[in-house]
Amino acid sequence: MQALKIIHYPHPTLRHKSKPVTRVDAQLKQTVNEMFQLMYKAKGIGLAANQVDLPLRLFVINLSGDPDEGEERVFINPVISKPKGQAEADEGCLSIPQVNGTVLRPSKIHISAYDLNGAEIDETVDGLLARAILHETDHLDGVLFIDRMSDTSKKTIDGLLYEFENEHKALVSSGEIPDPQTNAKRLAEIEARYCN
Ligand SMILES: [Zn+2]
Repeated sequence: MQALKIIHYPHPTLRHKSKPVTRVDAQLKQTVNEMFQLMYKAKGIGLAANQVDLPLRLFVINLSGDPDEGEERVFINPVISKPKGQAEADEGCLSIPQVNGTVLRPSKIHISAYDLNGAEIDETVDGLLARAILHETDHLDGVLFIDRMSDTSKKTIDGLLYEFENEHKALVSSGEIPDPQTNAKRLAEIEARYCN
């Protein structure tokens, strides 16, 4: 696998709907470890596999954002149910740096998933953890927090998004980011290894 790095909006992999992971090998464990390191370096509290250009249904979270504090959590094949309540809060995303916006989400959810050792996760969560899990699970479905912003608040960040779109076009022209077809082929190869 290529060296991991965080990809930015509007990279096509961020719109890819990930398939469940059926195989965890040593390389995938190493990848998860690298995802934590990239997340800390970028000062984030959560990172989904799509954000490092991998079509895998998993994400990592450490609410403290600090490798020496908090708890490192890995969620594989997350399924969210029983959403309750509503809460508004400001969100950001490592794939759209410097952009923030208010997002309305359920305040309490149930999450089922597996951790990296194959142990079942079955929890009811609220607060920041619920918000982080919802944000990261959205990534796995190809959804970004900007999709959930109100039209009026999204208008305030349109200019910033346009800059990301221009930057993306330049990276595609220079060959640094593959065209959508080549990218889809590469994602299918990774899926064949981990999602069958
Ligand atoms: Zn994000």
